[in-house]
Amino acid sequence: MSLTVSILGATGSIGRSTTDLLAQHPERFRVGALVGGRDAEAIAKLAREIGADFVALADAAQGPLLKDLLSGTGIPNGAGETAVLEAVARDADIVMAAVSGAAGLRPTHAALRLGRTVALANKESLVCAGDAFMRDAKRYGASLLPVDSEHNALAQALGDGKVADVASMTITASGGPFRTWSAERIAAASPEQAAAHPTWSMGMKINIDSASLMNKGLELIEAHHLFGIEADRLDVIVHPQSIVHGLINWRDGAVTAGLAMPDMRVPIAHCLGLGERLTIARGRPVNLAAVGSLTFEAADEARFPCLRIARAALRDGGAAPTVMNAANEIAVAAFIRGAIGFYGISDLVERACTHFAGIHGQAPADVDEALAIDAEVRAWSTQALAA
Ligand code: NDP
Ligand code: MG
Repeated sequence: MSLTVSILGATGSIGRSTTDLLAQHPERFRVGALVGGRDAEAIAKLAREIGADFVALADAAQGPLLKDLLSGTGIPNGAGETAVLEAVARDADIVMAAVSGAAGLRPTHAALRLGRTVALANKESLVCAGDAFMRDAKRYGASLLPVDSEHNALAQALGDGKVADVASMTITASGGPFRTWSAERIAAASPEQAAAHPTWSMGMKINIDSASLMNKGLELIEAHHLFGIEADRLDVIVHPQSIVHGLINWRDGAVTAGLAMPDMRVPIAHCLGLGERLTIARGRPVNLAAVGSLTFEAADEARFPCLRIARAALRDGGAAPTVMNAANEIAVAAFIRGAIGFYGISDLVERACTHFAGIHGQAPADVDEALAIDAEVRAWSTQALAA
């Protein structure tokens, strides 16, 4: 019997890796609903290629074009929030949650409320509303499978082990394109230089976050929620080859590490396999003799202040990560359009965290509250940039 897989963020980088795997295993999977943001051409083309039970775009204005592009296919479709929720409500054995940014919170949470098995790529869900997501996953009987490569490696390395037996968990960072650059050079970096990731091929936003190490900061917060482990048992180490992704340091001194070539299809296949292993056509096995050496170095929080800011947000808890994420999304967009320099990102995020520290203390109780804080911080950050 085949498993139905719906994809939120189907036309993105993770979405494409997912559809690639589904197409490789047609006997095992069938395509459920496909959800995108606003690119009607891309999602219509994808749906024509791989089929779909339903196609939805978040941007309501794209409705007529989408209808037109899918005419004759018989695939039901719609645009706007209701259509997205209708897509999520379609039957699915696995929902891949791979919308980028805080926009992913609502659809991901909707899947969780239906008790679905959710393969979670949208780390922002846990960063912005981690307490609420973990609580509701339990409440509605949903399972959350970590897609992020580091967390997937940690989950595999942990196996049936107990978090109580773990001295610490370590996630690796490639170090991004600026790993060896001086602060002066980083300060003058262009968006193109920041987006040129040395090992992974990903969407634009996460590329910039990787260059600033904010992505690692978001991942520390993600790990805290996924594994119920506190900040002082979570570490980051820079590993430029991106082959070791996560390490479990057990309390007896043994270490279990998760390795794979930097290919998101590996953690995605692990999630889609639901306990069974899938073959990946055109996958690259780890050949350590060919790789030669795996190197590690400490992360430099002076040249990469976003990591320091994220660690502080994780320690402070409450709404600090929600605030940080919103300011970062505004700052990254401003950097991409050339409105601020690279260190303008960490400057704005730090200012927002300081400004809102006394305003929002408690962790958001639910998605609505998280999104209200998110909107408030975005408005403040946009204004702060214009001033
Ligand atoms: P992309 O930018 O490549 O893709 C984002 C997808 O989300 C697109 O399909 C986009 O559609 C869709 N989308 C955007 N806004 C909305 C919205 N409001 N409602 C519904 N869909 C929307 O991102 P990535 O694939 O790189 O990343 C997705 C998530 O996975 C992020 O949270 C990221 O942090 C995480 N992740 C990604 C990794 C990677 O290797 N790429 C690794 C680990 C985690 P459209 O183009 O039409 O707007
Ligand atoms: Mg990652």
